[in-house]
Amino acid sequence: MTEYLFDEIETRWQQRWAEGRTFEVTEDPARPKYYCLEMLPYPSGDIHVGHVRNYCITDVVARYKRMRGFNVLHPIGWDALGLPAENAAIKRGVHPEKWTRENIAQMKRQLQRLGFSYPWSREIATCDPEYYRWNQWFFLRMLERGIAYRKKAPVNWCPSCQTVLANEQAEGGACWRCGSQVEEREMDQWFLRITAYQDELLDDMAQLSEWPERVLQQQREWVGRSPGAEVDFPVEGGEPLRIFTTRIDTIYGATFMVLAPEHARVDELVRGTSEEARARQGIQRLHAQDRRSRQAGLVEKEGVFTGRYATNPFSGEKIPIWVGNFVLTGYGTGAIMAVPAHDQRDFEFARKYGLPIRVVIEPPDRKLDPATMEAAYDGPGRTVNSGELSGLDAREAIGRMTAHAEEKGIGKAAVTYRLRDWLISRQRYWGTPIPVVYCEKDGIVGVPDDQLPVLLPRDAPFTGEGGNPLEKVPAFVHAICPRCGGPARRETDTMDTFVDSSWYFYRYLSPRKDDGPFDPAVVRYWFPIDLYVGGIEHAILHLVYSRFWTKVMRDLALVTFDEPVTRLFPQGMVHKDGKVMSKSKGNTVAPDDIVRKYGADTLRLYILNVASPEDPLEWSDENIAGAHRTLQRIWRLVDKHAEGFASGTREPIPAELPGPARQLRRKVHQTIQKVTDDIEQRIKLNTAVSALQELVNEITRLEPEVSAGPGRTALREALETLVLLLSPFAPHIAEELWGRLGRRFSIVDRPWPVADAAVAKEDAVEIAVQVNGKVRGHVVVPAGMVEEEVRQRAVADPKVAEHLRGKEVVKVVVVPGRLVSVVVR
Ligand SMILES: [Zn+2]
Ligand SMILES: [Zn+2]
Repeated sequence: MTEYLFDEIETRWQQRWAEGRTFEVTEDPARPKYYCLEMLPYPSGDIHVGHVRNYCITDVVARYKRMRGFNVLHPIGWDALGLPAENAAIKRGVHPEKWTRENIAQMKRQLQRLGFSYPWSREIATCDPEYYRWNQWFFLRMLERGIAYRKKAPVNWCPSCQTVLANEQAEGGACWRCGSQVEEREMDQWFLRITAYQDELLDDMAQLSEWPERVLQQQREWVGRSPGAEVDFPVEGGEPLRIFTTRIDTIYGATFMVLAPEHARVDELVRGTSEEARARQGIQRLHAQDRRSRQAGLVEKEGVFTGRYATNPFSGEKIPIWVGNFVLTGYGTGAIMAVPAHDQRDFEFARKYGLPIRVVIEPPDRKLDPATMEAAYDGPGRTVNSGELSGLDAREAIGRMTAHAEEKGIGKAAVTYRLRDWLISRQRYWGTPIPVVYCEKDGIVGVPDDQLPVLLPRDAPFTGEGGNPLEKVPAFVHAICPRCGGPARRETDTMDTFVDSSWYFYRYLSPRKDDGPFDPAVVRYWFPIDLYVGGIEHAILHLVYSRFWTKVMRDLALVTFDEPVTRLFPQGMVHKDGKVMSKSKGNTVAPDDIVRKYGADTLRLYILNVASPEDPLEWSDENIAGAHRTLQRIWRLVDKHAEGFASGTREPIPAELPGPARQLRRKVHQTIQKVTDDIEQRIKLNTAVSALQELVNEITRLEPEVSAGPGRTALREALETLVLLLSPFAPHIAEELWGRLGRRFSIVDRPWPVADAAVAKEDAVEIAVQVNGKVRGHVVVPAGMVEEEVRQRAVADPKVAEHLRGKEVVKVVVVPGRLVSVVVR
């Protein structure tokens, strides 16, 4: 009997895999390909349990697919640019690059110790100039096509540090570094015109049948396409105000208008009115409110009357124009018609300021009274109080009223979107430099491709004040105009790190290519990505940006498809003590500690078994010990017979076997079926592990009866199959036991076991059911079914149940394989 020395075993096989380049792959047209991807980590310092969960899921699928004969690509890299490195530089004086590289080295060691099947030769880090060079190249292609453009936009500004802050540096409106009140400032910024693809982002969801609906729904809401109408409201003494509405059927109920405080016409509208002084004061107050809280609807609805009136173009009624904080410039036209009877926000505003409420949609089942209504009614109904357009079904009224507006030349059908263009400018150092210069003569000039990459200078000062560190590096800022050769100023903004992660999965295919971002022929072999696993928190942003990027690449004729990912699988979060596990909550568990105590295989098996991969995982130290005991049981079971099987000849399994051996084979083949289905169809890795545990129980139970004689062939089959099925989950112990059973390195290239349906099939037996000594029915059950289940089936049989109704069951006796006898009173 040998001991399960997990540390020695795991490090030995990891070394063997590395030396054998076991997980390195190349294109092989003779084999079907499988591209299995996980979201690349940010090198924050340590691998955490959430990462481990993500990578365990993909690793099982990758190893399984390989055993099924696929050519599997399962790469990893580092999302290495971004704010934390720069913050570390400011706080601790360590260069962002040094901080990042050290973290990568640490985390790489941790990943290798967990035995993930990565082709390390394809490792990329987005902070490598060889990587961000291609961000710049893509940016220039987008600049040429007008997809990248510059316009003014607000940023968070700390007046004391004299610098732009990221949203996460300005939480609660205070500077993260000095605590000063953050201001909003308009600055020129770079944008990517993602809105040019907004319809495609929605319509191409038809191609994403293997994405979870909840992710698609979040993306749909983010793009926010709403069909509706634009209508002009005449303004006394001025140009008409244009509004957008999705509910033109309620227009007769528009009793006032509301403009966003930022609306361009606000100043003109208040000028010269009797309310001007009061209005200006109120508007100033609204301007001071936090923009993000307003967007999130977190501030109390407030407004002020401009003193000016418009005319409702349908009813002809004179209505007041207000300015209100609940109207945003980002959506529609920044001006709304307010219909308090049928819109809840308008209703609350009208109640607060005593504005009129008019019912114009009547529900099918009751009458609404504006005086007593407690909420707006936005359900179905018929139009009332709507002049000649009264009495219509509300849905029908939308078409009729839109047509009416078009005839009169006061409006038209229109579609509005919530999606905004992607602001990629960051006034920070640790990002991809935006490759343009500003020339007095030529304006904005893109850096020519042959001068890429525009490198980050190493010697920038990291003080946290006085703006972007890049602005203080004269050798970087002073450039030569590529067009006229005159002096130019280099752009100091860097790119949002979401740019890096929008296309990294293409770079894995040609990680060292230096004359293009990737090889299109290689993309044709590996794409689309067959499975992409990552956190649900990426449902928008990353997963929208990367779809957008692929569509741009398609329009650049770099790829030939619309969507990069076939199947998306979001894994659940990790919780501990009922809370999400996170550094800030202080409830993290260090994977290193678990590996030291129990080994990587135990951690993997535990994480995969304790919860369904898409559900939250509640951390439990007890269950880890349980996973370790499972592996020890497997170790003892195989170890006991390994030598005998390794040295003996391989006898074929005879057609006729004694009962226990038949039973064992049945369980083995049922387990193959179950584990295969669980991985293949639903990624139910937790129930797959449970099935393996059941198999271990069954082998343990039957092992004394099949250790000798013809049944021994079934034992060998059982042990070898157990090890093969275990190998994607706990690869090190599987590799070790495989070797001890006399089989050759490496188990990762053994074919996945195939279930023999005939062997797996249960023998069925018919059992008579007696009630008080008389046969009342028959049930057919699998042979060997446990007594309790036979009993339940027997009393549930409809014919038997008839004789039990209203009686008390005193006793049930099961004679295995023959009879169930029920005694009733
Ligand atoms: Zn500050
Ligand atoms: Zn020039």
